[in-house]
Amino acid sequence: MSLGLSVVIPVYNEEASLGELIGRCLAACRGLELDFELILIDDGSRDRSAALIEAAAGCEPELVGVILNRNYGQHAAVMAGLAQSRGEVVVTLDADLQNPPEEIPRLMAEMAQGFDVVGTVRQERQDSLFRRLASAMINSAVRRSTGVMMHDYGCMLRAYRRPIIDAMLQCREHSTFIPILANGFARRTSEIPVGHAARRQGDSKYSLFKLVSLQFDLLTSMSTFPLRLLSLAGCLVAAAGMAFGLFLMVMRLVYGAAWAVNGVFTLFSPLFVLIGAQFIAMGLLGEYIGRIYQDVRNRPRYFVEKVVGQQAQGERP
Ligand code: UDP
Ligand code: MG
Repeated sequence: MSLGLSVVIPVYNEEASLGELIGRCLAACRGLELDFELILIDDGSRDRSAALIEAAAGCEPELVGVILNRNYGQHAAVMAGLAQSRGEVVVTLDADLQNPPEEIPRLMAEMAQGFDVVGTVRQERQDSLFRRLASAMINSAVRRSTGVMMHDYGCMLRAYRRPIIDAMLQCREHSTFIPILANGFARRTSEIPVGHAARRQGDSKYSLFKLVSLQFDLLTSMSTFPLRLLSLAGCLVAAAGMAFGLFLMVMRLVYGAAWAVNGVFTLFSPLFVLIGAQFIAMGLLGEYIGRIYQDVRNRPRYFVEKVVGQQAQGERP
């Protein structure tokens, strides 16, 4: 049976906010007057979160609990929830109540206009300056390399249509960044401004180390361009070496052997050229590795949204 809406929430050590979260989500969704399910994924919490989810799932008919055996990370947990979801539209949000569940109806209203993905932009973010700076850098990098204009990739309060979810579930890679993955399959996207509250209970579940590794997930999930930078750096260094050699030769002819300390600096020129050559060779390896990476990820080569025409019989395999 398919439903109108699935709300997917990853939970990691959030026992303090779970009760309020479930209450507010159910209230917001019940106001929508459509069939819905609320999927809570316990991402290997070490507190009582899993037990609380199980207990709540026993009382509330709309609630589905997905309990993972250990901590896999936020995006893997959301993927587990997406695999479980049955809704025509799926809304993801965080368990810490920084994204108010009361915004779900507004997301649904925007989706009703036919968008594939609706993102959100946090107004007056209640995060530290360090987190805001990191987000600003990521947003501009993603904009440049994927060409999709969205302003706030860090905010997980988002809505996706079923075909996008199915396409994402076909991607078997381990390190995913869901908002960017979704944009790769979306045709029409939109953004709405939403409120953002400070975290009231507990701390951010992202340590500095986890945050850095998330940034690398993000970077590598969108392009293999950094590998190409190696070749570029190599070319620059080699060119500088050759220019330096030329410069030394000219100066030697003009000013004689005494200039440049009898040729001591001449060594630098071939050295730079060789270092440059090494970088170029590494860049070449990088090109192969990049292609291996693309193939190993095994993403669907393309995503057919629909097939039209009188002879067409839906999507052919
Ligand atoms: N989370 C998770 N697994 C993790 C880390 C976080 O499921 O390993 C969940 C967490 O419970 C929350 C969401 O991901 O629902 C976002 O985490 P958090 O609020 O700590 O991140 P921040 O707001 O600092 O970006
Ligand atoms: Mg948070």
